Amino acid sequence: MDKKESSKAAVPVIPELLAPAGNFEKMVTAIHYGADAVYMGGRQFSLRAKAGNFSDSAMEKAVRTAHSHGVKVYVTINILAHNRDFVDLDDYLLRLRHTGVDGLIIADPGILYRAMKMVPEIPVHLSTQANVTNAQAAEFWFDQGVQRLNLARELSLEEIREVRASCAGELEIFVHGAICISYSGRCMLSNYMTGRDANQGACAHPCRYSYKLIEEKRPGEYFPVEEDERGTYIFNSKDLCLLEGLPELIAAGASSLKIEGRMKSIFYVGGVTRIYRAALDYLKGLPAVAWENPDKIVLPSVFLEEIKKTGTRGITENFFRGAPASSEMIYDSPRVAMRVEPVAVIRKQGKVPLVEARNVIETGDVVEYMLPGASTVSVTVVRMVNEKGQEQQRANPGNRLYLHTDPGLPLLKMNGIIRRDKQR
Ligand code: SF4
Repeated sequence: MDKKESSKAAVPVIPELLAPAGNFEKMVTAIHYGADAVYMGGRQFSLRAKAGNFSDSAMEKAVRTAHSHGVKVYVTINILAHNRDFVDLDDYLLRLRHTGVDGLIIADPGILYRAMKMVPEIPVHLSTQANVTNAQAAEFWFDQGVQRLNLARELSLEEIREVRASCAGELEIFVHGAICISYSGRCMLSNYMTGRDANQGACAHPCRYSYKLIEEKRPGEYFPVEEDERGTYIFNSKDLCLLEGLPELIAAGASSLKIEGRMKSIFYVGGVTRIYRAALDYLKGLPAVAWENPDKIVLPSVFLEEIKKTGTRGITENFFRGAPASSEMIYDSPRVAMRVEPVAVIRKQGKVPLVEARNVIETGDVVEYMLPGASTVSVTVVRMVNEKGQEQQRANPGNRLYLHTDPGLPLLKMNGIIRRDKQR
């Protein structure tokens, strides 16, 4: 009997990949690049108030589209509610039932209470805003009828394992995206500094601002606290990326892996979703024997290289392997480093695809098409023709045109993304 046959380990269940859908275009992009489920906000009761969010009719269309691809839709009702917020809630819940959504993401016990009363058949996922940091809290929420917990982002792998060992319900883990310097939802910086309530979906992100020092007897004199000439950003965390921890998370029994970013671009949503999809598919294909030591499984390096091209503030595993150190912060810039930039999005498939430009394109440019999976196809733009049949040497953002390339790209799918490597 060879080692493969004698292995006692089994290939674990590969979790759901859950991607953000800030609007319809982002949802289609997430689906195209391999999401199993998407989450979105309606016009009310959702954090990320500026995410574009879906009207009732837009949500109906979105749910129909997602379901036609076998993709589930979860709707965020994750504000921390005040009494005034409950006025339309029951009606809204009934409308969501009519829409056919697959789950509600809730943080507030009051909203959970109304959801259980009005639409008990719709599964409830507890939002990370509820800060579940221990097994007792997890049991408490499962006892309240919650089907899934999105655990606090501040847990280590060991703590996730402990919660898993003591509870039978679904566990969802944030694996990628921006993180707060506070426990999610326990931050008043934005309220104090701008009057915008992070817990009502209106965070102004003051943790990304540049800060200076003042001495109390010298009002108005701002002393630089400098990492470099741009200043310092003392509250500014790097972005979470648990790509390399996926084997251990899967072996630990995660049910769903969530990507943050309803307000991010389709380039980000597509780029991140496709790499996590590729990583999960790669892991699914490993033999059972590999799962005897999930901590020894190493993903192909191209996955991490590609993730870094999607635009990050630098990446961190946050609390995953222990308490983060100051190296998990990024003090010298709030900006997202972009090595590649989006160039165009496919609007119509065809022998020559119709694209919508997202950046300037000129004939002669070398661009890359992001295939589902981790690979790309590099092509040269040889000709651009607008919808009136006129030739263009240069396209500006928003222009729609037929993109002729060498070699040709005849099989591009709707919302497939074309990008450019700026270091080329
Ligand atoms: S200010 Fe920053 S840390 Fe606070 S809630 Fe907003 S994003 Fe999170």
